Amino acid sequence: MPELPEVESVARTVRSLVRGKTILRCDVIHAIATKPQGPALLRRKAEGQRVEQVERRGKYLIFRLCAGCLVLHFKLDGQLVWFPNRNVAGHVDIALHFEDGALGFVDRRHFGRVLFHRRAEDVPGIAGMGVEPLSREFTPTVLAARLRKSRRPLKLFLLDQTRIAGLGNIYSSEALWRAGLSPRRRAHRVTHAESQRLHKEIVGVLRRALECCLHPAPDFRNPEWWFQGLEKILRVYGREGKSCRRCGGRVRRIDQGGRSTFWCPGCQH
Ligand SMILES: [Zn+2]
Repeated sequence: MPELPEVESVARTVRSLVRGKTILRCDVIHAIATKPQGPALLRRKAEGQRVEQVERRGKYLIFRLCAGCLVLHFKLDGQLVWFPNRNVAGHVDIALHFEDGALGFVDRRHFGRVLFHRRAEDVPGIAGMGVEPLSREFTPTVLAARLRKSRRPLKLFLLDQTRIAGLGNIYSSEALWRAGLSPRRRAHRVTHAESQRLHKEIVGVLRRALECCLHPAPDFRNPEWWFQGLEKILRVYGREGKSCRRCGGRVRRIDQGGRSTFWCPGCQH
């Protein structure tokens, strides 16, 4: 699932394609992508509006319009594709037509959504969302205070979007490995020094992943595009049974909250 770095790279890249342009037509090809709202609402609200700004909040992509906004959530593997001259082809769920091309929202597995809201803050997932980890507001003190208030295992703490926005399964596993902290440790038991280390590694892994996602940047003109080169920055995720890159111990996979956590019991305490 695209996490903060992936969605941020999409936001920065698609901005240059659509900002300041008017949505001439909105075709809803697969209505499921507008659930629970329905295709008519999306069409009515989007058509004729100019895209004023493109932003990201957590894992959501937001197109701010003159009135209201479109909120896109990619879920497992939704993506954007740009069709020059509006020649839409292949599997597309929703197509936003601009004068010089069409932007397609593509999600073959149909988990992703494109919704209209008056304000992005009205989206339930965004309303109570926590601090942006690449913002100035995310300081070691802020992280320490939030850790103290939670008794959850660290991995589940990091996945909780109401505490820190945009972290998913991959970068939470990676940040914990880099910080040498067990995903099972209770958040409130983390020491001051450990919390400082975790803060540094959360920011570090997200910055590094974002750099990677921007070089090369998403190529929306290629319907097959996906993020390249990310696997080379991953140190623990997806490496079950392999030897740890730090201590040589065996990387394990455990289930936490229905999701896989990869970690090394040898060096994560
Ligand atoms: Zn290890």
